Amino acid sequence: MAPVEVRPKPVLRSKYCKGCGRCIDACAQGLIERGTDIHPASGLVPIALHPEACNGCGLCVDACPEPYGLVSASLAAELDASEDRRRFPHPRLPAEEVPAARAALPEGRPLVVKGTHAAAIGALLAGCRHFFGYPITPSTEGAELMAKLLPSLGGVFLQAPSEVATVNMMYGCGGAGRPVMTFTSSPGFSLMLEGISYMIGAEVPGVFVDVMRAGPGLGNIGPEQADLKLACRGLGHGNTHAVVLAPATPQEMLDFTMLAFELSFRYRNPVVLLADGHLGEMTGKVTLPAELVRPGEPAWAVSGDAAHRRNLIASILLKETDQEAHNLGLLEKYARMAEGEQRAELFRCEDAEVLVVACTTPARMAKGAVRALRDVGIAAGLFRPQTVWPFPIRSLLPLLGRARRVVVVEASGGQLEDELRLALSHAGASTGVEIQHVRRMGGVLPSQGEIVEAIRGKRSSRKVVAA
Ligand code: SF4
Ligand code: SF4
Repeated sequence: MAPVEVRPKPVLRSKYCKGCGRCIDACAQGLIERGTDIHPASGLVPIALHPEACNGCGLCVDACPEPYGLVSASLAAELDASEDRRRFPHPRLPAEEVPAARAALPEGRPLVVKGTHAAAIGALLAGCRHFFGYPITPSTEGAELMAKLLPSLGGVFLQAPSEVATVNMMYGCGGAGRPVMTFTSSPGFSLMLEGISYMIGAEVPGVFVDVMRAGPGLGNIGPEQADLKLACRGLGHGNTHAVVLAPATPQEMLDFTMLAFELSFRYRNPVVLLADGHLGEMTGKVTLPAELVRPGEPAWAVSGDAAHRRNLIASILLKETDQEAHNLGLLEKYARMAEGEQRAELFRCEDAEVLVVACTTPARMAKGAVRALRDVGIAAGLFRPQTVWPFPIRSLLPLLGRARRVVVVEASGGQLEDELRLALSHAGASTGVEIQHVRRMGGVLPSQGEIVEAIRGKRSSRKVVAA
């Protein structure tokens, strides 16, 4: 007599069960019933399976729409082993892994566009097809262009009900491994900070273009460098950092937005691009790059298909030592960012005795002031951070040996100067540095004339010495 085939009984993996009840209808033996308890991991009520009299027909497994709800015993064992392997702290991808290909872009004539539009075009060329945002002046025109162009490119534009919703949509989209961005402005950026902390904690990429306006509070819609301290020092709770790019031209709005996506995936971390209201509105000639980017799907993405279904994106680590290890891993990543991503433009700095430090739109006035000062025989130079975090201290230190004065020009109450002072301190540079400043706020930008006047009106201060 042939042996009786024993078919394996299904295994219920409760945390994946949605409680839809399809398996209940499928089981002719009546071995499955509705559950009563909420599962702590899913917040849903899974079914109760009574497999004692199960004949292993498998109809319930076939009926289950969840790939890992009801499974065979062998698959359950394999999944359990896999879950053990991917417990936190999860292994990080090597820094150089950026899942993207490049394709040649036909050569064309330069565009003449405003800064926000240049950033939107840069995002599209970087392969971004997902935009979430909440309109706020003076950033809205970037979002408007994305709304016009994304549908025809098969992308998604979604106006969220708030900035808080926006950043959490970005968290989900970035977690699925998709290039995602938003345009916002200072009060909106403030509202996103908690979500940015979650994205940093979960190591999720995303690009935030913050077209800064005057504060505090509602302030006004005039240009200000109001958010340097938030972007550099205040990205929500915890030990957080992100590369903060500071463009000064429409061309850099495009180039740096493309770069932001690359860095965001390279480090699995949000990237902030700080423009100001003037730069967002400023029209300029923009040359398109030779290549556009076709993003691939990162191995870590939670994209829902079979290959990625077992991935996990989360920022919660209930075991204290796991959380500490995760933080140490993040700090090591920030150190790599600080080492590899410092960027600066040096304009006539080679023999500069007066070193002007400025970024975004005030750097344009500062550059004009440097030219005017050179015309009257003053050896001035402009040091322009293109990343304000990490501050490009490596490029600055060699200039300090010659500089007799350092003048920070900014449209805030000293936020850029604070970054400079911190960078000097961390680098162990002399505390004998005398730093002067030209500051305007409230939507007023420092003019070329007042920078020249301030510098010509003051005599040489103590020698600046780098340690
Ligand atoms: S395998 Fe068949 S008998 Fe067993 S629980 Fe599923 S449907 Fe019921
Ligand atoms: S069919 Fe799957 S998801 Fe639905 S109740 Fe049954 S086990 Fe749960």
